[in-house]
Parts: sequence; structure tokens; C-alpha cells
Amino acid sequence: MDYFPVFVNLKDQPCLVIGAGEIAARKIELLAKAHAKITVIANKISPQVLGLVASCQLDVIQKTFAPDDLRGYRLVVSATDNRETNKLVAQTATEQNILVNVVDSPELCSFIFPAIIDRSPIIAAVSSGGAAPVLARLLRAKIETIIPPAYGRLAQLAEKFRSAVKQHIKEPAQRRIFWENCFQGTVAELVFSGNEQAAEQQIQDELNDTRQVNQGEVYLIGAGPGAADLLTFRALRLMQQADVVVYDHLVSPEILELARRDSEKIYVGKQRHKHTLPQESINTLLADLAKAGKRVVRLKGGDPFIFGRGGEEIETLMQQGINFQVVPGITAASGCAAYAGIPLTHRDHAQSCTFVTGHLKDNSINLNWLQLAAPNQTIVIYMGSAGLEKICHSLIAHGSPEDLPIALIQQGTTSQQRVITGTLASLPPLVAEQDIKPPTLIIIGTVVNLHKQLNWFQVGQG
Ligand code: SAH
Repeated sequence: MDYFPVFVNLKDQPCLVIGAGEIAARKIELLAKAHAKITVIANKISPQVLGLVASCQLDVIQKTFAPDDLRGYRLVVSATDNRETNKLVAQTATEQNILVNVVDSPELCSFIFPAIIDRSPIIAAVSSGGAAPVLARLLRAKIETIIPPAYGRLAQLAEKFRSAVKQHIKEPAQRRIFWENCFQGTVAELVFSGNEQAAEQQIQDELNDTRQVNQGEVYLIGAGPGAADLLTFRALRLMQQADVVVYDHLVSPEILELARRDSEKIYVGKQRHKHTLPQESINTLLADLAKAGKRVVRLKGGDPFIFGRGGEEIETLMQQGINFQVVPGITAASGCAAYAGIPLTHRDHAQSCTFVTGHLKDNSINLNWLQLAAPNQTIVIYMGSAGLEKICHSLIAHGSPEDLPIALIQQGTTSQQRVITGTLASLPPLVAEQDIKPPTLIIIGTVVNLHKQLNWFQVGQG
């Protein structure tokens, strides 16, 4: 280890920045975040640094650096473009045991600035020891994505209860378990969903009754249209905590793979004509699992609130007083449209967009055809492939032009994606000739013409 990581308390500590250009400004901003008392010495002061004078309470001295200037400082940053000055600063600081950083010259530094992930009071720092700062920054970006922004608030909440917990739970090992449960369970989830008051209440309840068996909860999660990396961070995090995953037909194996390895997976199906479990049974299954103390992930294709019957599932949970969260997902309409290069709205084509279901009930589709046949709009039809011919026919019968563009997108966003375009008159026979694999989505409107121009997704890329 060439550099030992420590977190230094710089609050009100005298720190000196030499140089006042753009790079100096960035270092000043960092030091100011730690509430350091900052002095800047430079021959020329850039507008960037001048702009920080008030907000960072800077003391700016316009002069040429002299070794005597370092007296009394805890830490110094040299950010001048003069190599001799930088060297002199490093040498003097080292003689006086002052921590010194010379920007872009690791060999002159006694400390280096890491890439920082700030979720105060949680701070993570990444360093490559000056070897590959860009790599350290990339790593930081990765860490940023796995630490929810609300971790800071969670830590603040823990701090608030720290002494109460210490008093209540004397045994350190038990205390650790208590906190682990808080940070991975209901308390954390309440904080992440912005409900801090309820989180405080939950800690209080758990403290008052440490024997209390934790009731489980349900996370109703939208798994998106297919490509696994279209999941939200929140979905992924909750999936990795699941005891049980109850999933639908539309959820791809790659996505299921991302759930906690040892979680129980329950398939509840739902394909056209093949209802594995009736909806009512799914509703009660979720409630029963949660009542047995499980953390249940209910994974649905796309978004749970768009043709997903998510509303019915949480209604049962609500009635039974079970905690739940709904995590939105990318619905098939946005996923397929994006990956097919068909904007759903466009200033020149469509001022509105309607999502409808083409699911046949008693062999007929009950839609407001007059409204759907009006111009300057986009219509997206879910579950429409079986009724494609009827749909096109009804639209034409209600005034849509026969040559209105229409696209059928098979398995959108995945490596099996296919986009077949045509017109209301030409598409049904064209599709009938082909071996189309579900799921498919239909997009109707002149925006479909943009597909040829904007098609960016190469199949096999997903
Ligand atoms: N809740 C889901 C929709 C469920 S209904 C969502 O928000 O996307 C099921 C229908 O969604 C399918 O019949 C199909 O029309 C559409 N669909 C879902 N995923 C799709 C995909 N990857 N490609 C094309 N259509 C898809």
C-alpha cells in the first residue's frame, strides 16, 4: 500500500491553496465541503476562484509564493502552472511536516485526493495512488450506482438512535444484529422511499419489543421489457434482498438470475390462454408469504401499473395491513419505441400517445375506434398480435387512412428484437406470413416512418 487512507477532520483547520486557476478552484470547492478555513495565495486570481470567495469564505492574497507563507498551515495544495514554484512548495511543506498535494505531480505529493463518493456522513474514497486517476473515477461511478443516495440519511437516522440502542441492547453481538436488520430491512426501505418518520417509528417499535417477529413485506417490481440492464437500481437492490421471488411469464431468465441466489422462485405464469394461477390466488399468495415473515419480490414484466394488474395485488396487501413498495419499470411501449427508433411523440407527427390493450374478449375488441382513428397521435397496442387484423380493419372503418404507418415489434429490447413495418392495409397479411414470437407490441401513427431513419439498435446488441 503506497498511500494509507485516512479521513482527516479539516473543520476550521487552516489550509492553503497556492495558485488560483481552474484546477485550484476545484480543490478549493472540495476543501470547502469539509469546512476548512481556506487561504489562497496567487499572482493572478481567476474568475472561477473569485466566484468562490463568498461561498467558501476564502481569504485571497495576491502575491508571489515565498517559503515563509506556509507557516501555521495543516495542509497545502499547490496548483500553479509553474513547475519551480510547485517544487518549492513541496520541498518546504515536507521540511515543515505539512501535508502537501501538488496537482498532477504524484512524486511531489505527501497526500493525494481520492475520487470521493459523498453520502455524508458516509464517505467512500477511491484512489489508484496516482497511477490511473481515470480508472479510479470510473470505479467511483460504479460505486455511486450501488450506494443509494439515501444512505446518508440512513446513517443520520442511525446516529440519532445510537445511544438509545446501546442502552436498550447491552450485548454487542445482538446490537450488531439489530443494526444489520435495520440497514437491510424495513427501516432502510422506509428511508429509501422517503418515509423517514415511519422509519423512526419502526426503529422505536423494534426497540420497544426486540422480540417482535419481523413481518415480511412485498416489493412489486417492474422488470422492464426484457433487457436486464434496463432494470432500475432500486429494483436490483430489492431483488438482491428477496427471500422469495414470485414472477411472471414475461420476466426473462437473465433478470431472474439477478435475484438473490438462494431465494425461492415461484412461477405464476400468465400466458395467453394459459393462466397458471388465477389472479386472486396470486394476490393471497403474496399476502401469505409476507405474513410468514418473508421479503417477497413480485416481479412483473414492464411496469407493474401498466396492463399489469399491480393495482389488484397491492389492494389485497393494503387490506391486510402488509407493508409494500411499488417500483416502476420501463413499460414495453417506451422500451420498444426506444429500441426501434420510433419516438412516441414528435412535434411534426403526434401530439399525444395512447396505450390500449388489444386483448380479445369474446372474440371482439372493445375500443373507442373513432377516437383512435383521429390524426396526429400515436397508438400503442399491448397484447394486440392476435387481433391485428381486426384492429387495422376497425381503424380503417372509422376513418384512418389505409396507408397509415404501423409497426409490430417482437421481443423488443432483447437480442431477438424484430421490427416489421407496413401500413394498416399491408401489415396484417405481411405478419401472417412470418413466424412471429411473442411478446409483440404494435405502434400506429406517422411516427413509425421515423424508424428507417432512426433505427440505431443492431439486433444481437441487447
Ligand atoms: N406491464 C407490462 C405489460 C404487460 S401486458 C408493461 O408495462 O410492459 C403484456 C404485453 O406487453 C404483451 O402482450 C406485449 O404486447 C407487451 N410487451 C411486453 N414486453 C414486450 C417486449 N419486450 N416486446 C414487445 N412487446 C412487449
